[in-house]
Amino acid sequence: MSVVVLGSANLDLVYDVERIPAPGETVLARGYGAFAGGKGNNQAVAAARAGSETRFIAALGRDENGDRLAEEARAAGIALLDRRVDAPTGTASIYVDRGGENSIVVNSGANAELTALTATELAAIGDADVLVLQLETPPGAVAEAARAARAAATAVVLNAAPADRRAEDLLGDVDVLVVNEHEANGLLGRDPGADLDAAVDALTAYGCTVVVTLGAAGCLVAAPGGEPVKVPAVPVPVVDTTGAGDTFVGYLAAAIDADERHATGAAALAGAAAFATAAAAIAVQRKGAVPSIPTLEEVRGSRDAH
Ligand code: ATP
Repeated sequence: MSVVVLGSANLDLVYDVERIPAPGETVLARGYGAFAGGKGNNQAVAAARAGSETRFIAALGRDENGDRLAEEARAAGIALLDRRVDAPTGTASIYVDRGGENSIVVNSGANAELTALTATELAAIGDADVLVLQLETPPGAVAEAARAARAAATAVVLNAAPADRRAEDLLGDVDVLVVNEHEANGLLGRDPGADLDAAVDALTAYGCTVVVTLGAAGCLVAAPGGEPVKVPAVPVPVVDTTGAGDTFVGYLAAAIDADERHATGAAALAGAAAFATAAAAIAVQRKGAVPSIPTLEEVRGSRDAH
């Protein structure tokens, strides 16, 4: 029973500012903090907190930020398969204003060097029950990982974020595609506001089960040829939705992992999505990304309470 995540690891540098600086302007921060982040890292933490034995394939720089991310991943119970490269560890500089609006600059750094997989990384994918991918690292290695998983009968979960038209080529090797409404259309090169039902039909035609997350409206689970099933969100007071999507993906992967057959059809995924929805509902009630991801005990407790 295990999950392997391949993806980005960043140090998020978060600045609280009165307002986001205009071009040419300098502002003083009211507060500052540095936190482990990146979709790959966050989803690995979520899968580990959900109880799956979790490995994380990531590229880090040979620098203090890389050491810090490696340390935090290990402290979260993740077996890190990190390669150290001659580029700085990825960073995201995030300015958050009074109203909660943000402005972000990402330096992919080491993440951009994750271009091809080593024999050890391919073996880890072949040994796992579930592979989790996103699109914050170069597409060549993401495609290579999906092919290797398919060949080894490892279930493939792709969170196609940020949406990238090139990822459509991957879908033949994907079992479960997780997207939000914008990404569903963006992946197909369509206008982000285009008809969602049509996008879901086009995506399921590749043979994968599609999960569309809809924020406070919950999610849709659609399998090829079937009627989409709606899973409602848990009504909760929202504090900060950062990390909700990553919590959802990590918990969904862990639910597939925990299932004896690792089933990814509509019925199995509706159950997995309900579990992921309960986890995401806890994450939105807390600040931050990694700190907001709940443990399995917390999710079970909240489900008993509802
Ligand atoms: P992110 O902002 O993390 O990138 P996303 O766009 O990938 O998010 P969302 O659809 O916003 O994903 O949220 C993922 C899941 O989190 C939803 O399917 C839902 O279960 C839960 N969620 C999000 N917002 C809320 C909310 N306001 N109340 C309850 N649950 C929520």
